[in-house]
Amino acid sequence: MEELKILQKTERLREARWWEAEPGGRVHCYLCPRHCHIHPGQAGFCFIRTNQDGRLYSLGYGAPAALQVDPRSGAFAACSTGRCAATGLEIRL
Ligand code: SF4
Repeated sequence: MEELKILQKTERLREARWWEAEPGGRVHCYLCPRHCHIHPGQAGFCFIRTNQDGRLYSLGYGAPAALQVDPRSGAFAACSTGRCAATGLEIRL
């Protein structure tokens, strides 16, 4: 877990969204289709969301790797992994 601290972009850890607690301190992250079940002290497949003491935190909060504007709505989408969580496609500026 210590080696993942280089990915942490803010001083204070930011609790993630889109997860639920499971028995034994595990968490179920359902942000993307991988649906990781993460044990305490471990990270998900993306290595950007970690389970610390039974809660899920985002190490990349506030440091997007890519931004995208939806041409139809004009809405912004930000991503800290450079890959769309829903489709798995790479996001480029
Ligand atoms: S890969 Fe990352 S975002 Fe996707 S479910 Fe696993 S922990 Fe969550």
